[in-house]
Amino acid sequence: MPGNNSEEKYDLNISFFFFLLGFLVMISAFLIYSGFTNMQQSYTLPGAISIGLGVLGLALVGYNLLKLQGRLSTMGAAPAGPQVVTKQKCKSCGHEASRPFKEGDFIYGNGDACPKCGSGESMLIRSIFLHKPAKKRGL
Ligand SMILES: [Zn+2]
Repeated sequence: MPGNNSEEKYDLNISFFFFLLGFLVMISAFLIYSGFTNMQQSYTLPGAISIGLGVLGLALVGYNLLKLQGRLSTMGAAPAGPQVVTKQKCKSCGHEASRPFKEGDFIYGNGDACPKCGSGESMLIRSIFLHKPAKKRGL
C-alpha cells in the first residue's frame, strides 16, 4: 500500500524522538547523580557543572515534550478557518438553529427536523453564510 508510507515514516520518527528523549533523561539523571557524588567528595566545581548539565538536559526534554504536545493538539483540532454555516427556522414554532453547512443545503430548502417542538417537520433553511471565527493571537 503506497498510501501508508508517509504515515509509517512519521510514526517511526515519533518513536525515535521519544527514544532520544528517554536517552537524554537517562544521561541527565546520571549527570545529576554523579554531580552529587562529586560534591560529596568535595569536587564542588565539576559536581556543580555536572548537575547543571543534567538539569539543562531535563529542561530540554520537558521543553521538547511541551512543544510536541502543542503540535499534536493543533493537529487534532478543527481547522480555525472560515466556516460555512446554515441557518434554519422551524415552520411551526419559529425555533431558529444554526449548524455547519452540509452538502445539499440550499436556501428555502428543507433542513433538519425541529429539535424544539418535536413536530417532526423539517425546518426551513433561511440563510447560508460564511462565518469567520475571531482570529487567534500569538503563535
Ligand atoms: Zn419547531
